[in-house]
Amino acid sequence: MKFKLVVTALLAAGLAGCQANPVSGRTQLVLVSEEQAQASSAQAYAQTMSEAQKKGKLSTDAALNSRVKRITDRLIAQAGNMYAPSRSWKWSVAVIDEPTLNAWCMPGGKMAIYTGIIHKLKLSDDEIAQIMGHEIAHALLGHGRERMSHAIAMQGGLQLGSIVAGRDLSVLAPVADIALTLPNSREGESEADRYGVELAARAGFDPHAAIRLWEKMSQASGNGPPQFLSTHPSPDNRIQALHALVPRMMPIYEKAR
Ligand SMILES: [Zn+2]
Repeated sequence: MKFKLVVTALLAAGLAGCQANPVSGRTQLVLVSEEQAQASSAQAYAQTMSEAQKKGKLSTDAALNSRVKRITDRLIAQAGNMYAPSRSWKWSVAVIDEPTLNAWCMPGGKMAIYTGIIHKLKLSDDEIAQIMGHEIAHALLGHGRERMSHAIAMQGGLQLGSIVAGRDLSVLAPVADIALTLPNSREGESEADRYGVELAARAGFDPHAAIRLWEKMSQASGNGPPQFLSTHPSPDNRIQALHALVPRMMPIYEKAR
């Protein structure tokens, strides 16, 4: 109810609008600009990194760090072909030393993957590429802005006018944090699966690994769902949809490898 009221008020004031996403073509409700989403994400990322550093939670495993960077560098090189503005993003990837099954990519390309998901799911390079490809796809598709818009609307008490007018970025930092803990929509998940597998294929990573990854993820849900699945709800037909998608992505992969 609150969400509807706030959005209606913003729409009436001409401060918010619906925009067709340049990659997916889907119409999204947008309450923050891409610049605002990126700036507040950069702040939230710096904060997350400094806290992880203080707690000794940034992985010092040089081999693992360079393995992750090698994989994400290949994905980043292809991201610009999917969404040209991402060529000027200040990309960054951190390996966080926590048992959590999680990974994310904020608007603007600030990424993290947790040692928990790599070790517990015994991820191969192709599987790491699929999970980071999925995360990067969320960023390229503007899903972070969508989640931040929802976070703003749910926190009706924020100074909405000044946020939308771009005057006050400081109030957006907590919103960027909250947005990371909000679930993506199932529609957004299907999009991120579809574009994530394509991004990874263009970077020369095997599309079949996406199926293995999600099978491992669902097996890991036995002891309570991993944090990852609380923010990335599974569309009912995910594995089925991936089985249909993989053959279509194979030519792209074969060409790139
Ligand atoms: Zn997702």
